[in-house]
Amino acid sequence: MPSLPASARPDAIDETLSQTRYYRRRLPELHRLERLIRKGGQHIETTVLAEIRDGDLALPLYALRLGSRRSDAPVLLLTGGIHGVERIGSQLLLSQLATLISRLQWDEGLQQDLERIRLVFCPLINPVGMAHGWRSNGNGVDLMRNAPLDAETPGPWPLAGHRIGRWLPWYRGRRDTPMQPEAQALCELVRSEIDGAPFSLALDCHSGFGMRDRLWFPYAGSNRLLEHAAEVHALARLFERAQPHHPYVFEPQCHQYRTHGDLWDYLYRQQLAHREQVFLPLTLEMGSWLWVRKNLRQLTSFTGLFNPLVPHRHKRILRRHSLLLDFLIRATRSWQYWLPQDDERVFHQRQAQRRWSRTGNG
Ligand SMILES: [Zn+2]
Repeated sequence: MPSLPASARPDAIDETLSQTRYYRRRLPELHRLERLIRKGGQHIETTVLAEIRDGDLALPLYALRLGSRRSDAPVLLLTGGIHGVERIGSQLLLSQLATLISRLQWDEGLQQDLERIRLVFCPLINPVGMAHGWRSNGNGVDLMRNAPLDAETPGPWPLAGHRIGRWLPWYRGRRDTPMQPEAQALCELVRSEIDGAPFSLALDCHSGFGMRDRLWFPYAGSNRLLEHAAEVHALARLFERAQPHHPYVFEPQCHQYRTHGDLWDYLYRQQLAHREQVFLPLTLEMGSWLWVRKNLRQLTSFTGLFNPLVPHRHKRILRRHSLLLDFLIRATRSWQYWLPQDDERVFHQRQAQRRWSRTGNG
C-alpha cells in the first residue's frame, strides 16, 4: 500500500486545544469521526480531501477507505452531511462505520467481503455548515445545487436553485465560477474511486423531506428516466424480495421536485461516457416529518425539523437503516449475480418504464 501523506495519517490529526473545544461544542460528529479513524487503525486509509476554513480554524474534510485497494474492485460510496443541518445523515454513517470497525476484528465474512470490494466513507462533507447548523456551506451556497448543470425542466423557484444571493436558501453560487471546495472535493473523490470500477453504488444520506423514507436516483433535473433504469429496477426488486417489509419508496428524485445543479446528476452524466461501467447513485432521504408529528415540540427548533430529538427515536432511526446498508454491501460484492443482461435487461427496462416513467418515451 502506498504510504499516505502526513496530513492523511490518523496520528497527524490536529489536536490544538481550540480545535478540540470547538469540536466538542459545535461538531461532535467530527470529534467522533476522528476517534473512529484512530480506532480503525490499519483497516482504514484516511485522506484529507480539503481543509474548509471557519474563521481561524481549518476543518478537515475526510474520506475513509476500507477494503480492496484495487482500481478494478467494485465500490460502495457512503456520503452524508452535505446539508449541514441534516446531522442525522452523518450520524447514521458514523454509527455504521463504528459497527464495521468492531466487526472487522472477528467477522470473517466481512473480511472476505472487503477483500473483494472497497467501501469509501465521506460522512461529513460540509463541516462548517454543520458546525453552525446551516443547510448551506460557509459561503452560503447549497452544495446540492452547486454543480454546473441546469435542470431541463426546473421545479418551482427558488427551491429549484437560484443565483440571487446567499441570503435566500437554495443559492447555487455565482454563474461561471468554480464549484465550492466541498463540492469539488466530493466530485474528485467519486471520480477517482470509481474510475476503474466495473460497478459502483453510492448512497448519499439526507433528511427533512416528507413522511416516508425515500431512495432517490437521478434525475433531479429532468423528467427523463435515467439510462440505467433497468439496473436500478433490478436492484430495487432484489431489495424488495430480500426485505419485503422495508420502509422505502424507490423513485426518481424528479417525482418529488426538480432542481438545478444536482451533484449526483452531474457525476452520473459524466460517468455515462464510460459505457462498460455501471454507476448507480442513490440518495437516502429520511422522512423527518414523521418525527415532527410524533413530537410537535420539534417544530420549535430548526434542527428538530431535520433530526430526531428524542433519544429513543434517534436510536431507532440509526437501527432502521442498517439493513439497507448491509444489503448495499452485499449487492456491491455480488453485482455480477444480479445485474441484468440481454433479455433480462429488456424486461427490467420495461418494468422500470411502467413503474417510473412520466414522459412515456423513457
Ligand atoms: Zn439534504
